[in-house]
Formats: sequence, structure tokens, C-alpha cells
Amino acid sequence: MNLVMMGIQGCGKGTQAELLEQHFGWRHINIGNLFRSNIERQTELGKEASKYTEKGELVPDELVYEVIKDAIRKADKGLILDGFPRNLAQHEFLVENVKIDKVFLLDLDTETAIKRISSRRHCENCKRDYNLLYNKPKEKGVCDDCGGNLVQRKDDNEEAVALRIEKFYQETGKVIDLYRKQNKLISINADQGIQEIHRQILAELSC
Ligand code: AMP
Repeated sequence: MNLVMMGIQGCGKGTQAELLEQHFGWRHINIGNLFRSNIERQTELGKEASKYTEKGELVPDELVYEVIKDAIRKADKGLILDGFPRNLAQHEFLVENVKIDKVFLLDLDTETAIKRISSRRHCENCKRDYNLLYNKPKEKGVCDDCGGNLVQRKDDNEEAVALRIEKFYQETGKVIDLYRKQNKLISINADQGIQEIHRQILAELSC
């Protein structure tokens, strides 16, 4: 099974993709994380990508294809794309390279998305994600799993968030419209609890 998870930043698509990976063993491909890992390791690709990610701009498609091609090759049991495609050119790339079975849209209004993004934290060490609104650590500022420090993403500042949201409506919106016209889009209300959303996605996958 090959899935695409779409939605505005903060809609929880990464969390849902994680749950599906644990449930089915399909590979969760998170493009943002792939860039962040390259940036941390200071690879050439990471150095180039950081010029865009820090501002909240989309990274040029050629660099995106470089990271995604490798990830797709390793996903022999199925995949869950999180953060791809984000524009029509990337959608074309996908059509040529992977057969997509289902596309989910986690639907969330902009105001709630911004509130959630500003409450996002992740562990500096093991990278586990938290949200201070609905997925808090047991101890403030400390990772439940490894005791690492919880920090905010560099690009979760007001300016970069505003630009990412603008790009979502301008660029990704066109891909969502296309999937909708093709009757491929399964829309789920993202303003619900994590487990409820997961339950609804599983129900859609079983039919
Ligand atoms: P995310 O973790 O999904 O918010 O992505 C973090 C950043 O990585 C984005 O703001 C972009 O700069 C970059 N990025 C992630 N996915 C893509 C993509 N499909 N196309 C272009 N840039 C991307």
C-alpha cells in the first residue's frame, strides 16, 4: 500500500504516518525530516536545503527528488509520503515513479494550525515529537524516552510559519484540488484526538 498524507503544517500528518508505520510496517517518508537530518550532518545537500528551510521556502524540486528517490527505493513493503508532493511538478514526479493507492487530507483551519505549530516541541536527541497542547511530555522540557532536551524547530518562528502556510495554500492547494477532482482525496477532520483520527484512517483503509 502506498499512501500520501496531506494537510497544512501542524495538522498532525506526521503523527498519523508514524502510527500507520507502526501498525502496518509501511515506510514513513518525511521529507522535512530527511532535510533536517542532512542539515544536521552538514552534507552538501543539507547546506543547500537549509537556505530554504530556515525561511520557510520550498526547497527546489531537484533537491527534493534527490532525497526522495533514495527513500522510495528502500520502501519495499509500502510507503507513507508525508510532505510530498507539495506542488504540481512534484505530483508529476510521483505519477512517474510510484503508484499511489490512497490520498488522505487532514483538514484543519489556519488558526488552529498556527496555535499547534507554536506549541510543537521535539527532542534534541532522539527527535521524538511532542505538542504542549495535546501530546505533552511527562516532565516539562524533558523527553519521556531518552531524557533529552525538548526544543522548538528553528523554522517554527512566526515569519517562516506564515510563509509555509502561504505556500501550502498557493502550491500544495493545487495538488489537493487535483486529487479532489480525481475523486482520490479522503478528507478527515484533523481537529480531533490522535487516536480518533487514526481509527478513522484505519476504517478508510479497510474498505
Ligand atoms: P516540514 O517538516 O514538512 O514542515 O518541512 C520542513 C521544510 O522542508 C519545509 O518548510 C521546506 O523548506 C522543506 N520541504 C519539506 N518537504 C518539501 C517538499 N516536498 N518540497 C519542497 N520543500 C520541502
